Amino acid sequence: MSKEYDVVVIGSGPAGYVAAIRCAQLGFSTACIEKWLNKDNKTVYGGTCLIVGCIPSKALLDTSHKYVEAQEHFAVHGIKVSKVGMDVPAMIERKDKVVTQLTQGVKGLFTANKVEGIAGTGKLISANKILVSGHDGKQEELAAKHVIIAAGSIPIDIPPTPVDQETIVDSTGALEFQEVPKRLGVIGAGVIGLELGSVWARLGSEVVVLEALDEFLPMVDRQVAKEAQKILTKQGLDIKMGARVTGSKLSKGAKKSVTVEYTDKDGEQKAQFDKLIVAVGRKPFTEDLIDPAVGIEFDERGFIKVDDQCATNIPGVYACGDVVRGPMLAHKGMEEGVMVAERIAEKKTQVNYDLVPSVIYTHPEIAWVGKNEEELKAAGVDYKVGVFPFAANGRALAANDADGLIKTIADAKTDRILGCHIIGPSAADLLQQMVIAMEFSASAEDIGLTMFSHPALSEGVHEAALAANGHAIHIGNRKRRK
Ligand code: FAD
Ligand code: NAD
Repeated sequence: MSKEYDVVVIGSGPAGYVAAIRCAQLGFSTACIEKWLNKDNKTVYGGTCLIVGCIPSKALLDTSHKYVEAQEHFAVHGIKVSKVGMDVPAMIERKDKVVTQLTQGVKGLFTANKVEGIAGTGKLISANKILVSGHDGKQEELAAKHVIIAAGSIPIDIPPTPVDQETIVDSTGALEFQEVPKRLGVIGAGVIGLELGSVWARLGSEVVVLEALDEFLPMVDRQVAKEAQKILTKQGLDIKMGARVTGSKLSKGAKKSVTVEYTDKDGEQKAQFDKLIVAVGRKPFTEDLIDPAVGIEFDERGFIKVDDQCATNIPGVYACGDVVRGPMLAHKGMEEGVMVAERIAEKKTQVNYDLVPSVIYTHPEIAWVGKNEEELKAAGVDYKVGVFPFAANGRALAANDADGLIKTIADAKTDRILGCHIIGPSAADLLQQMVIAMEFSASAEDIGLTMFSHPALSEGVHEAALAANGHAIHIGNRKRRK
């Protein structure tokens, strides 16, 4: 007889583990199946985000930022450091420790909430039956009143540069280099390309980023994207736009390198690298996940089709996180995980897909929410803009970290905030203030009337909102309003 649960979750990434914990909190007997094994062949919970994504990349971004600070920025503060050294294996080891701490944390949360973690690969074989194939080859069938599929995503491969995880790597391989590559190629000037490119550039690699599109960060507000391109280029990223990769050749011999062939506006080009990171996007991880007889529908890009509340076309089967439509972001998956659990419990709940914040964790950080100017222009919406540069913020200057700006966009008639776009120090945390404000339908005037601590980076949020109405105090206003 198969073991029976109220809810079985397939995948323990941020969408899956959050869904499982919330289901258990709501009183459902819950199991979460996970197939990921660590280097010691032990099951680890936490998915891409905790094991090879958000957390390890930020650990290395923080480490490499501290290295740059010690090497270049301490002197400005009058701190003399005679020689700054580097131990790359120690950096990687520290990153691994952070990952272990957090993945163990998920295991602890499962125990505390009475979620049963099950090691193995899950496959949906009917609307309420899941076949689990253990790593020892044994198979077990589980029965569930409700199933939540949260199998996540994997990197996209492109034929000209097959990943061998040695010389040509994906994002996972790029978190494991044991020495700094002298010349590093990155394919894709997207989020991963810029974050991981920054890590290794800060540690001394000559980094060349090859991007197929002509426009840098097309999803970002143009003013912010332009500022980002300027700053990142100054930091040493050689970003080549309109570069289409056509092939690659691995060198022979002990010290491997790769020659990448690409075309750009000047014709055919070649570049040689010690390592190459392929970061051209991710795709839903659905291989052998669902028996076709179950009848689950997929969209044309391979995502599991769901409604606004993450229900599939099969009653009782839900899907959330990277395996469904929408941005591939951990926080989007987590909110969907909670929504699905509450929907199963017949509570009314909804994710606000209009207010999903996005962040690129370069330094300075790039963060945005809501609409940008280009989108509003295209939609014919009449809007007003307030911009405040960090160069006019006392706290940013005190920290010698004053590159960038905050831009607030509000509806010209109602004054309701429609978007916020930041490039600057702690942009992710600053943006969150505006996400909360927008969730409560705040106007630019509401933010202007709020008192902000001084001196703080968040005063820039205040001033940008004031500037939208021509009332900024610490910069000249472009257009005065009464
Ligand atoms: P995943 O985290 O991919 O988890 C899915 C889990 O399901 C995995 O553990 C997998 O092993 C398991 N699984 C799959 N199939 C099965 C099966 N058949 N049986 C059992 N288990 C299965 N997002 C952010 O918001 N902020 C960031 O800063 C950020 N940085 C990133 C950096 C990098 C380098 C990468 C690669 C991604 C980053 N992301 C970031 C994206 C983020 O990691 C994903 O959006 C998020 O992990 C998706 O969560 P998920 O639960 O849907 O899937
Ligand atoms: P991405 O979609 O952000 O960027 C991929 C880039 O590669 C694009 O600019 C695309 O034009 C380019 N590209 C595609 N094919 C190419 C080719 N053949 N040659 C040259 N360029 C090519 O994808 P990503 O950076 O791989 O990240 C994957 C996902 O992970 C994203 O959806 C992102 O949301 C998520 N992620 C988020 C964060 C974060 O929130 N800070 C960090 C890392 C990853």
